[in-house]
Amino acid sequence: MRDAGTTWAGTHRFGALGVVEASTVAQVQEAVRAAPGRVKALGTRHSFNDIADTDGTLVTVTGIGGTPFIDVTDPSHPTVTTPAGIRYGVLGRWLQERGWALHNTGSLPHISLAGATATGTHGSGVLNGCQSTALSRIEFVDAAGDLCTIRHMHPEFPAVAVGVGAFGIITELSLTVQPTYDVRQDVYVGLPWEVLLEHARDVLADAYSVSIFTTWTEDTVQQIWRKSGVRAGAEPPDEWWGATRQAVGDTRLVDGDPGALTPHGIPGPWIDRLPHFRLTHTPSNGEEIQTEYFVPMEAAGDALAAVRALGDRIVPHLLVSELRAVAADDLWLSGAYGRETLAIHFTWAPHPEPVRALLPEIERALAPFDARPHWGKWHAFDGAAIARVTPRLADAKAVFETLDPAGRFVNDYLTRLGIREPRAPRLDG
Ligand SMILES: Cc1cc2nc3c(=O)[nH]c(=O)nc-3n(C[C@H](O)[C@H](O)[C@H](O)COP(=O)(O)OP(=O)(O)OC[C@H]3O[C@@H](n4cnc5c(N)ncnc54)[C@H](O)[C@@H]3O)c2cc1C
Repeated sequence: MRDAGTTWAGTHRFGALGVVEASTVAQVQEAVRAAPGRVKALGTRHSFNDIADTDGTLVTVTGIGGTPFIDVTDPSHPTVTTPAGIRYGVLGRWLQERGWALHNTGSLPHISLAGATATGTHGSGVLNGCQSTALSRIEFVDAAGDLCTIRHMHPEFPAVAVGVGAFGIITELSLTVQPTYDVRQDVYVGLPWEVLLEHARDVLADAYSVSIFTTWTEDTVQQIWRKSGVRAGAEPPDEWWGATRQAVGDTRLVDGDPGALTPHGIPGPWIDRLPHFRLTHTPSNGEEIQTEYFVPMEAAGDALAAVRALGDRIVPHLLVSELRAVAADDLWLSGAYGRETLAIHFTWAPHPEPVRALLPEIERALAPFDARPHWGKWHAFDGAAIARVTPRLADAKAVFETLDPAGRFVNDYLTRLGIREPRAPRLDG
């Protein structure tokens, strides 16, 4: 077993006894059966908090190889089945080479598919649900070490599709795919904040995927990355919502390698445009902390104004904020459950103490909008606060308790937030 180490950004040191790096499903089953106490799945460590930790053994499936396969038995519903530990940029490249695509991606293609879907990782687009909305089948190792499968139509599927590692170790996933498509991303500058406050939804809905970058106190937002579908003869507008399209050039927002960004200004395959970063590059050294809150899109203007009022307090610790849209879904622990969503993201400088102190203030400002936190990023929510904004929390918890009655996948994070029942660790093997 390897030492448990830290999250990718070094924002949490794992307290686990060690990590089992499985290279087969049988090894996952063996690890779960042999572990003396609790177990928890670890992905590519891209979460920022203790969500993936355990006081027992971590098991990662990122070393389980195998080739994905496409199933077109139902031509109206093609799917890809893949080892769950695959990085979604690797899966995306594999799909692209065969003429297929996912509907959307998050910003970083280095993240494991199992970990991304476990926390409801999302990109942008009012018509684009989070990554988990593409799931149609989940294969996992349960608390007894048995291999189980759960499909889309199963009544428990809405609990496990954004399952925060609370019920088992996912080994294989099937996702809906679509024929490949091209996307072009263009950078706009000069969008006045007043326009954004009044028309946030319209701006976010005015292309396939729109990301708005801001540091809150400017008169005009820093940049907008507009990722649009490519139609023959159609050029992106030069002027857009009062913003101006930039010549292709320096799209860098914060210190880091500009070569790490996916290309701007020229059309290309979805997998080389929807993520902000190239799979072949590391976007930064991980010297950052991330936080993200989800509010109903219908309250976008008021929620943005509430955060902007804290701008002077936020700026000293902020690298950049990103605003995105997520389509409503029916997955019980998704940040976009039941409501079209504005995602308000903060990439913080590595100032842990001031950031920790600021989060409750931001959360108070967003409380009137029933803001939900991103499970994998820093937040200050407790169980009562989570229960207030997560209508199906009790249902999800009941499913997890049924699938794992002895609490082997329970950790501090899950009990603190009321997602699992606390209980003493099992030490009988
Ligand atoms: C630079 C950067 C950019 C990011 N961009 C985005 C973005 O654009 N959009 C967004 O929404 N988020 C984003 N995130 C957050 C990230 O997508 C999530 O935190 C994600 O959950 C991390 O996945 P992981 O594989 O690293 O999992 P980990 O962080 O290792 O684990 C996260 C959770 O997944 C569970 N898990 C992992 N593997 C399995 C498995 N095999 N079976 C069951 N459960 C499992 C863990 O138990 C844990 O609960 C970003 C993070 C970073 C560092």
